[in-house]
Amino acid sequence: MAWRCSGKTNKELVQNITKSRILLNSNESQLERISHAMEAVDRAHYVPFTNAAYEDSPQAIGHGATISAPHMHAYAADHLLPFLRPGAKVLDIGSGSGYLCAVLHHLVSPSDDIPRGKIIGIDHIPELVNLSLENLKKDDQTRRAVENQEIQVHVGDGRLGWPSDGPYDVIHVGAAAPTIPEPLIAQLAKPGRMFIPVGTQSQYIIQVDKDVDGDVTQTRIMAVRYVPLTDKDKQTP
Ligand code: SAH
Repeated sequence: MAWRCSGKTNKELVQNITKSRILLNSNESQLERISHAMEAVDRAHYVPFTNAAYEDSPQAIGHGATISAPHMHAYAADHLLPFLRPGAKVLDIGSGSGYLCAVLHHLVSPSDDIPRGKIIGIDHIPELVNLSLENLKKDDQTRRAVENQEIQVHVGDGRLGWPSDGPYDVIHVGAAAPTIPEPLIAQLAKPGRMFIPVGTQSQYIIQVDKDVDGDVTQTRIMAVRYVPLTDKDKQTP
C-alpha cells in the first residue's frame, strides 16, 4: 500500500490517495471532504526534506519521531470522518510534525459561517511541539487557527490524554501503545470514536467506539508499524 500514491505536487499526491481504493469507508462526497482538507495542507511545510514532500512515505522528523505516510493520515480520516463534523472537538496524541492537526482543523472548521471545531495536539517532546507550531504558522489559515486557539499543541504525556478540554468527539493516536490507555477511553465523548495503533511486536489499528449510552466496542482494523507511545526518555533519537 505504501509508496504507491506518490505525486509530483501536493494535489497529485492527494488525488492519487483518494483514487487508490484505500479509503473504503467514504462515499464520493466524504472522499471530497478528505481530499479538500488534505489539499489545503501543503505537506512540504511539515517534512524536513521538501524534495520528498509528495512521496507517499514516512519521513524522520528528529527525536525518534516520523511524519506518517500520507496514505495513513488519509486512512485515519476515512475511519474518523463520521465524527469529524463541523464544530467537533479532536485530540491528536503524538502530534509530531503537526500535519494531521492541520488536516483535522480543515475537516472540523471548513468555513467561517458554520460551527468551528477545536484541535488539541499533544506530544511529549517540547522540541517537536515547537516544530509543529512553526510548521502550522507557514500557512495563513493554520497560523490564524493557532493564534485564535482553534489549534492548540501542548507538551504532555499523551497516555493521560488532555482532560481539561474533554470529552472529545474524536481521538487520534499517532504512536503505538502496548494497551489502550484507560484515560483516553474515559475522555471519549458519547458518542465518540478513537483510532489507535496498539501492540509492541505486532501492531494493529484498533477503532474504539463509544455510543450514546457510554458502551464501548473495539474493532481491529489492520496491521501497521508505528513508533511506540512510550516514556520520553525511552524514545530513541
Ligand atoms: N502524527 C504524527 C506522528 C508523529 S510520530 C505525524 O505524522 O507527524 C509519533 C509521535 O508520538 C512522536 O512525535 C512522539 O514524540 C510522540 N509520542 C510518543 N510517545 C508519546 C507519549 N507518551 N506522549 C506524547 N507523545 C508521544
